[in-house]
Amino acid sequence: MNKFIFLDRDGTLNIDEGYTYKTKDLKFFPGVFKALNLLKKNFKFIIITNQSGIGRGYYTERDFNKFNNRLVNELKKQKIKIEKTYYCPHAPEKNCDCRKPNIKFIKEAEKEFDVDLKESFVIGDHPHDIGLGKNANTKTIYLLSGHGKKHFKELKIKPDYISDSLLEAIKFINQKKEKIKTKKEIEKIAKGLKKKNKKIVTCNGCFDILHPGHMYFLEQSKKQGDILVVGLNSDSSVKENKGPKRPINNERARAAVLSSLDMVDYVVIFDEKTPIKLLEAIKPDVHCNGEEYGYDCIEAPTVKKYGGKIHLIRNFGGFSTTKLIKGV
Ligand SMILES: [Mg+2]
Ligand SMILES: [Zn+2]
Repeated sequence: MNKFIFLDRDGTLNIDEGYTYKTKDLKFFPGVFKALNLLKKNFKFIIITNQSGIGRGYYTERDFNKFNNRLVNELKKQKIKIEKTYYCPHAPEKNCDCRKPNIKFIKEAEKEFDVDLKESFVIGDHPHDIGLGKNANTKTIYLLSGHGKKHFKELKIKPDYISDSLLEAIKFINQKKEKIKTKKEIEKIAKGLKKKNKKIVTCNGCFDILHPGHMYFLEQSKKQGDILVVGLNSDSSVKENKGPKRPINNERARAAVLSSLDMVDYVVIFDEKTPIKLLEAIKPDVHCNGEEYGYDCIEAPTVKKYGGKIHLIRNFGGFSTTKLIKGV
């Protein structure tokens, strides 16, 4: 599946003085080329634009196409590919089904391209862009460039993010990578990573109250490969291992803290007493463990079965959550 950014055009990519259609008026906002070039690694681009100027008789469909082809070509010169432009040529009073926030065009795109809507974005400078994204179940970013400031008070649906420019929006788009995955999701991700020859490292634990020992353990684990997947014992699994008074922090809180760390790429909560089922799903190249568990730790047979190896990490500074709680 492909992640898409559904871009509004006027006021988002190019400066819009209102019903822009003359090629001589084509001016891109500063930072648009840079932004799209940074995003193209992870996203494909489609333009969806309301062109009521056609329906109102201000310019023709031919004028629109001429302007739009120029815009798409200028982007192409910057090595940015627009997969397709969808436009609604109708005046609002026609009540057509293609004018944003109607989702007809996104539904068409979904059929033509393999779109992962949940991981895709609609970005635009008008409340109907946000409406479009909400109706289609994508994430949404409202731009204050173009008409965004003027229409801000009409915004009835809360966008996922509000940004001054497309370039500034990247910060949000990139940080939005959700690191907490289910076992099924990570199995698929791991397969994809292997195809790209990425070295997958796993480790696991309760990570109840994070201390410098954990940080050292995670840093060292990450160093063993490209992608670090942390198996996190669920609340019931912690209880089973450490007794009824644990964990102090619930699994969502523990997963959130872990996923905020740069060295952690993914977090998967697992219910079993051991991470063996999870390791069966991931088939890591390296599984890291505290040195006290030894090379013949319970995970070893599973990891070795798929050609992986065990890496042991020394217990840095003698920290442990259990000791922290007891105050010793
Ligand atoms: Mg616009
Ligand atoms: Zn229409």
